[in-house]
Amino acid sequence: MSASAKQVVTRFAPSPTGFLHIGGARTALFNWLFARHHGGRYTLRIEDTDRARSTPEAIDAILDGLSWLGLDHDGDVVYQFAQRDRHAEVANSLLEQGKAYHCYCSPEELEAMREKAKAEGRPIKYDGTWRDRDASEAPEGVKPVVRLKMPQDGETTIRDLVQGDVTVPNSQLDDMILLRADGTPTYMLSVVVDDHDMGITHVIRGDDHLTNAFRQYQLYAAMGWDIPEFAHIPLIHGADGAKLSKRHGALGVEAYRDEMGYLPEALRNYLLRLGWGKGDEEIISTEQAVEWFDIDAVGKAPSRFDFAKLDNLNGHYIRNSQDRALVELVAPLLANRQELQVGDAQKTLLKKAMPGLKERAKNLLELADSAAFYLHPRPLELNEKAAKLLDDEARSRLSLLHAQLETLQEWEAEKIEQLLKSFAESQELKLGKVAQPVRAALSGSNVSPSVFEVMEILGKEESLGRIGDQAL
Ligand code: GLU
Repeated sequence: MSASAKQVVTRFAPSPTGFLHIGGARTALFNWLFARHHGGRYTLRIEDTDRARSTPEAIDAILDGLSWLGLDHDGDVVYQFAQRDRHAEVANSLLEQGKAYHCYCSPEELEAMREKAKAEGRPIKYDGTWRDRDASEAPEGVKPVVRLKMPQDGETTIRDLVQGDVTVPNSQLDDMILLRADGTPTYMLSVVVDDHDMGITHVIRGDDHLTNAFRQYQLYAAMGWDIPEFAHIPLIHGADGAKLSKRHGALGVEAYRDEMGYLPEALRNYLLRLGWGKGDEEIISTEQAVEWFDIDAVGKAPSRFDFAKLDNLNGHYIRNSQDRALVELVAPLLANRQELQVGDAQKTLLKKAMPGLKERAKNLLELADSAAFYLHPRPLELNEKAAKLLDDEARSRLSLLHAQLETLQEWEAEKIEQLLKSFAESQELKLGKVAQPVRAALSGSNVSPSVFEVMEILGKEESLGRIGDQAL
């Protein structure tokens, strides 16, 4: 392939379904990367010809998902429905050239054709009844469809950049409909005309479209148009090897953001690795991906979705995110899911706490959960394990400790640690025996970052308040 011969133009062409499908997101990413890698253009076409499904909300869900993933397109979005007159114009020009024809078959005739083929054990295919008939034979009052005259001999070969050469005998291609009886274009016609008009050089899409490619090829050929390069990428499968479906996990990208707390850079990195690879590299920045990505390294076998890998990547990207950015991401989660007040003061506190919190979180929901105790108002509710840690003995020890902490001048983690250590020694206890009840009092639970750090971040007054609340 010579991608350098002319400027590469790719497209992502989703049909609105209500969300951006996770597999569609990967297709978009591959198209985006391929275009960026070759210094070309990545375009977006919304295939909104199914008017019932193409609601503004369904379209927004796709635009929103793509923009969250950072897959910016070049030029204006093309809406397929708006091009319908142009699609019809192409069908009419094929009619004029004798490369397409009117077909007047009734639904009953088509049904009979199907039954006959079935009975004779032949593949079901339009039998060309109207292919060579004269218009004068047309039945009155019947609105015809327009069909393409497919070649009947020879074969069609798609030189697919992923699948290799794939060939079908032309006898298998039926004279597909281009315009329905009501004059509306079919999907097959619209896709080809749009791809041509948009100057698409590379059609990269799921391999569920491979069988369409043969027929689309013939339509290009009939119009005498350049045929784009095709790259049909294997679909994503679930962990069990079956085609990805709801039972494997969410299909809509927005659930990965809103319900599972993934970062867009983590999902992007994960989707990239799903079907494409460069050696053993797992963590690949977007800049690296643009530099490295090409179609030849896209695998032929379907890849399996692996949440553990996605979690690992997400943890990596969370740890490497700016604290301030993470605060902005968890703030709405704390406000909406935990009904906590998150103003400027709370954000300042969260920012201080972030280095300790982000080390452990696999996703933003976990991060928000682990941060929530910092913002909980006093007196804190104790979870079961915290309540167990705070028996009478521990509580009376907390009052002794409270008195000592009150005298501490420099409220810093290190100084607090020294004080707790010498307190534990004076009580002939292991540090943990002292620290665990303190943790329970400070956080309401039995897990938190280091208690010294927590106390420094909460500040002296709040820390003493929380310890005092539990002390006897
Ligand atoms: N609109 C089609 C879909 O969402 C894709 C068409 C194409 O890529 O050619 O599956």
